[in-house]
Amino acid sequence: MSLLGLQKEIIYGPILSRRLGRSLGINLLPVDKKLCSFNCVYCQYGFTDILVTSPARELFPTVGQVVTAIEAYLKKPHSIDHLTFSGNGEPTLYPDFGEIVEETVKLRNRYRPNAKLAILSNASRVSKYEIRQALTQIDKPMLKLDAGDVNTFEQINDPAADVSFEDIVKGMKLVDRIIIQTALFKGELGNISKSKLDNWMSILVEIKPIEIQIYSTERPVADNRVINLDSSELKNIAETVHNKTGLIVNPFSA
Ligand code: SF4
Repeated sequence: MSLLGLQKEIIYGPILSRRLGRSLGINLLPVDKKLCSFNCVYCQYGFTDILVTSPARELFPTVGQVVTAIEAYLKKPHSIDHLTFSGNGEPTLYPDFGEIVEETVKLRNRYRPNAKLAILSNASRVSKYEIRQALTQIDKPMLKLDAGDVNTFEQINDPAADVSFEDIVKGMKLVDRIIIQTALFKGELGNISKSKLDNWMSILVEIKPIEIQIYSTERPVADNRVINLDSSELKNIAETVHNKTGLIVNPFSA
């Protein structure tokens, strides 16, 4: 099996998502490159082509292009459960992220008032006030936390040089209704040893998310040392985390 190809358009799907039902993808990133502030070992798009935190504006579609693409889709009579910012990298790197969220809320309210807005973000910009403000308008802010210590974070997520694990955790504590998404896996790069899970749980207790979504990898991934967990392993971890922290933990398997 090969890696997932990049999304070729601003709008993709809707895809039937384990977590979001019929989810219409909004790709704010370039269509010919993966642009991200992380280079995760399990990324389904392979390794990151442009690893940055402050990319040039010219790399992105304009607000007008994104609004036109969303509106064109929403004028059609398809049913969707979520409009989801995701795509070929990290959506909050979009230079006008706050503006595009506002415009998408207006379009949702006009054409699909029952649909929810979601984002799958790696949280690398969550320490910025303007990003957290934009997230307040998104019904489901789903932010990635794969590690509870900086060494594991760097090994798994391999972030751009100026991304700070400490700042991410600080920022996460300030996000209302935050949903944490965590990829768990085995192997030499894995994050399920007792000490790694303990560190991760300690941080979760501080962040106080309304939900933790755990999943493993079922698609081909960037680094073949990543070994996925089966559904019973995920379920066991979910139970352990819930029992130790009291937090809501939902395992998602293929
Ligand atoms: S944050 Fe997402 S898009 Fe970026 S490298 Fe990690 S899995 Fe891939």
